[in-house]
Amino acid sequence: MENNHVSVLNIDLNAIDFNVNYFKSKLKNTTKLLVVVKAFGYGSSAAKIAKHLASKVDYFAVAYVDEGIALRNAGIKTPILVLHPQKQNLAKIIEHCLEPNIYASALLHDFITIAKAKNLSNYPIHLKFNTGLNRLGFSQKDIPSLITTLNNQQQVEVCSIFSHIAASEDLNERTFTLQQINLFKNISSEIISKLHNTPFLHMLNTSGILNYAEEAQFDLVRLGIGLYGFGNSHKETSNLKNVLSLSSVISQIHTIQQGETVGYNRAFKAKKTIKSATIPIGHADGISRQLGNGIGYVYIHNKIAPIIGNVCMDMIMVDVTNINCSEGDTVLIYKNQEHIEDLAKKSNTIPYELLTAISQRINRKLT
Ligand SMILES: *Cc1c(COP(=O)(O)O)cnc(C)c1O
Repeated sequence: MENNHVSVLNIDLNAIDFNVNYFKSKLKNTTKLLVVVKAFGYGSSAAKIAKHLASKVDYFAVAYVDEGIALRNAGIKTPILVLHPQKQNLAKIIEHCLEPNIYASALLHDFITIAKAKNLSNYPIHLKFNTGLNRLGFSQKDIPSLITTLNNQQQVEVCSIFSHIAASEDLNERTFTLQQINLFKNISSEIISKLHNTPFLHMLNTSGILNYAEEAQFDLVRLGIGLYGFGNSHKETSNLKNVLSLSSVISQIHTIQQGETVGYNRAFKAKKTIKSATIPIGHADGISRQLGNGIGYVYIHNKIAPIIGNVCMDMIMVDVTNINCSEGDTVLIYKNQEHIEDLAKKSNTIPYELLTAISQRINRKLT
């Protein structure tokens, strides 16, 4: 959806290719690649990313069914795993050739019932096991009844078995992670020994690829945030290329006399005469109010301009006293990964949240 807002999220496809190749270089060349494009491709553009990567990856994953439908409507033919299907939209999954994560017995029975009504056979499903995240998934003790159900029907076929690591980025949790991996190995071999077909296995997200490629690579990996150049550590991030930059322009420049205030609640008070610039992006666009009052900053002509006063819904004001700039000049709200990581830290969150918060009224442009 194009609009005439001046704030733009720029997406660098060459940098995406670089990052994909970087992660591929960490993997055996037989390991398949799934790219997770949930939440509008981590706030970028799921359709643009998927179109670009369709011929280069084996699978896409989304969180919810409507996200998968949007990809199909954009012409994506690649298999799409829906990580969190709900009972109410199982028929839509089939209608759009999406592949459900089946994480509970009730969901499996519902799906088989619908598949039966539609006369399907061997429809691909993916079984998720809980190995310690305690979010979604079967547990090991569910296996016997699961096998009975699966081996007494022809409507669905287990295409893959997977699990998700709770702390793949945190090496202090290595012992726990290795326990998760071992449990997954036990679970998957138990199932495979009892099923009529051999599903593929997967466990690793971005940090998992970086930290556990040796122990838990299996047949496929699920790359998300790494695609955009975030390695969940300074060292890994510095090996990746920046994909996303969020830019805007200066709407108006004001001279603020000593004693005057800027913004709502008069939160900023000028101790001396300063120059402020108003930028058309605000908390409704994902710029957290926690970044107000000098915590967050933007770049103008490569110089740092701190946010002054409170972040408004549609605007921020920044201090440009020491920057030679004019109305209409470009502002980098998010310059690169390092900038986003720093702003995330300063607002007590993680880059994932900053990226996925970028509002839909901001244009997405490929560069
Ligand atoms: C979001 C998600 C991923 C991707 O995680 P990143 O840390 O962004 O690489 C992989 N698997 C599952 C199940 C997810 O929910």
